[in-house]
Amino acid sequence: MTSADPLLVARARVLNDLAAQGLVDPHTVSVVEDCVSQRRWWLSQWEEGVGFVDGLVAQDVQDALFDEACRWPVCADCPDPVEHSLAIDPELGPDPHWVCSESGTVVAPLGRLPCEQVSDDDEML
Ligand SMILES: [Zn+2]
Repeated sequence: MTSADPLLVARARVLNDLAAQGLVDPHTVSVVEDCVSQRRWWLSQWEEGVGFVDGLVAQDVQDALFDEACRWPVCADCPDPVEHSLAIDPELGPDPHWVCSESGTVVAPLGRLPCEQVSDDDEML
């Protein structure tokens, strides 16, 4: 046993990137928990997948949220006015990164998504 549980690492990375877009709430946390527990079973069947599991958990969460009409993570870097998401690259490989699905630009490693700059229109409150 290594000290770092790869699935806890995956969970932390995904939660960090949800937080970067202001999406951490009890519901999304439970979505992450579900994806992590499914991948724990998967990993018990295929131990070599240990290097890929964080990227897979991220994609599982992304798919689950997309089914609920929640796009995550949203690309904030492009001038493209049409809202589009980031994708994990490689889909099945070590060292996963978020890349823009439109331009292919690497935005950040998984777990290191920069906080979205929220425009402060409510400042007059
Ligand atoms: Zn983009």
